[in-house]
Amino acid sequence: MPAVIRHDWKREEVLALFDLPFPELLFRAAGVHRERFDPAEVQVSTLLSVKTGGCPEDCAYCPQAARYNTGVDATKLMSTEAVLEKARAAKAAGASRFCMGAAWRSPKDRDIPKVAEMIREVKALGLETCATLGMLKEQQARDLRAAGLDYYNHNLDTAPDFYGEIIHTREYQDRLDTLEHVRDAGMKTCCGGIVGMGESRAQRAGLLQALANLPAHPDSVPINRLVQVEGTPLAGTALLDPFEFVRTIAVARLMMPASMVRLSAGRAEMSEELQAMCFVAGANSIFYGEKLLTTGNPDVEADQALFARLGLRPMTIVQESNTVHADIVETASPACAA
Ligand code: SF4
Repeated sequence: MPAVIRHDWKREEVLALFDLPFPELLFRAAGVHRERFDPAEVQVSTLLSVKTGGCPEDCAYCPQAARYNTGVDATKLMSTEAVLEKARAAKAAGASRFCMGAAWRSPKDRDIPKVAEMIREVKALGLETCATLGMLKEQQARDLRAAGLDYYNHNLDTAPDFYGEIIHTREYQDRLDTLEHVRDAGMKTCCGGIVGMGESRAQRAGLLQALANLPAHPDSVPINRLVQVEGTPLAGTALLDPFEFVRTIAVARLMMPASMVRLSAGRAEMSEELQAMCFVAGANSIFYGEKLLTTGNPDVEADQALFARLGLRPMTIVQESNTVHADIVETASPACAA
């Protein structure tokens, strides 16, 4: 019997999983991973920032927030043709999903037709698609879905009881509302958070509890490890123990057995051994960043070499009939969780 999909997790239950002896936790997570997935397959997504920097929000980890002096220059929304060029390169490099991100608090209604055009065109290339554009109103979510958007990324970031330490310009409930609009519009959700921001283990458990107790488990659960950027309030935060990061991945796998658990921001700073341990613990998705789109990029080659050494292979997409996948996701801040 596969693990049951639950939406009623208590904080103590989640903490009990975190507290398991490390080998026992990984053993259990690896077992649940095999119930629904081939553990040799890893889904690969590519992330493109279609509009970088200048964001009015104050997310304490983010170099794209205009109020922090991080050296990130604000750009305008890319043209559809420029986005398509990147999407074609992503496909050629083996990506199955193309995610487009814009550093907005929320898109203005006048932005939606431009983004919708990108979605339609990227979809026509035969890629899965995803977008992260900030908070969405009901009608905006419906319009993006009508353009063919398959996934929308909107992270919870952290536990409700730590959220006030990280963000002051929007409420936790705002995030839950956007996720509801996305689900109601018929899109899949990509929703996770960031660890290593100074939260306690109980608060890491609280993040996973909040994710698993959503009305539907997110289809993709990005688990970001804080990338400390000079100029942001979180620069200088004590580093998270790598084993604690692996525990977080394993507990996410146990609590959301049918979701893709994604290694996202912070992967570039992880050793290959740590990444391998995360795959053993149930991670089965990674992001290739936009800089990885260049042919012969050493990062791409390093990832391909790691896959070969571990006997892993990119997951093949099963295209829905009559559907083209087109996602737009926000980036430049590797952990942008608009
Ligand atoms: S994480 Fe997103 S919403 Fe927050 S400051 Fe960065 S770009 Fe803006």
